[in-house]
Amino acid sequence: MEKTLVIFKPSAIQRGLVGNILTRFQQKGLVIAGIKMMQLDETILREHYSHLVEKSFFPLVLDSMMASPVIVLCLEGKDAVNVVRLMTGATNGREAMPGTIRGDFASSNQENIIHASSSVEDAQAEMARFFKPEELFDWEPVNTSFIYSKLELEN
Ligand code: ADP
Repeated sequence: MEKTLVIFKPSAIQRGLVGNILTRFQQKGLVIAGIKMMQLDETILREHYSHLVEKSFFPLVLDSMMASPVIVLCLEGKDAVNVVRLMTGATNGREAMPGTIRGDFASSNQENIIHASSSVEDAQAEMARFFKPEELFDWEPVNTSFIYSKLELEN
């Protein structure tokens, strides 16, 4: 099964949306492989958002991501990276489709509630960035055969 990384940003923590969003992921059939609270610093954010460091708005992103602790989450499931990106929606909350997490909870380009890995390669790098190996768990819920078909579980 594929794993992906989600960050509940300070906007989710401050607005009390963690339970609601976690419920959505669990209802979808995604499995929690790791979860913890942490305070991000500039060093880890410069690495995580290396594609944005030259942007004029980057200092604002830094402030926003350090405004409170965050919760990092590792989710597991078939095609988990793509499934979680679809559930997350477009970057700008005002353009994200209703029904997506950003579409339902965000009205901002910056304060957009969660981060979700954008590719399998990114997910692997991000899991190593935010979790120690012993903080991630390989376990299978007893209801897996009601989430996926036999065929899907074989492939
Ligand atoms: P995504 O989070 O959808 O993968 P990006 O990797 O492009 O999007 O951007 C990372 C984060 O930086 C966004 O989630 C958002 O919080 C912030 N961001 C991106 N573009 C802007 C912008 N134009 N103004 C302010 N913040 C931005």
